[in-house]
Amino acid sequence: MSEKTLFEKIIDGEVPGDFVHKDDICVAIKDINPKAPVHYLIVPRKPIPGIHELDENEDWPIVTHLFKVAKGLAESESCEGYRLQFNVGEKGGQIIPHLHLHLMGWK
Ligand code: 5GP
Repeated sequence: MSEKTLFEKIIDGEVPGDFVHKDDICVAIKDINPKAPVHYLIVPRKPIPGIHELDENEDWPIVTHLFKVAKGLAESESCEGYRLQFNVGEKGGQIIPHLHLHLMGWK
């Protein structure tokens, strides 16, 4: 079995994480090094490495769900403006090989 990603360890409680949302499909945690007043990472429980590794037949609903959760969190944090971002691949700035949507918000 391959080693768990950092986000799997956070989801499983093996590494501390500041959770702001949990459901059956994903969790959201505060980014440890925030680049905006609100900076959350919305992470599917399924450890999909990234956008390119999505299973065409079953994973797109997960992506839709991540966007819905991000929108709800931005609203509950009263963000006036926000950015939703997937970093893809090392050259695209992706450090952690477990799909995650950045929510960066400003009030
Ligand atoms: P990426 O660059 O892979 O798109 O984003 C990874 C994000 O994870 C970065 O914004 C980084 O600050 C954040 N991060 C790295 N290590 C940890 C950690 O241990 N806990 C949390 N909550 N965030 C982390």
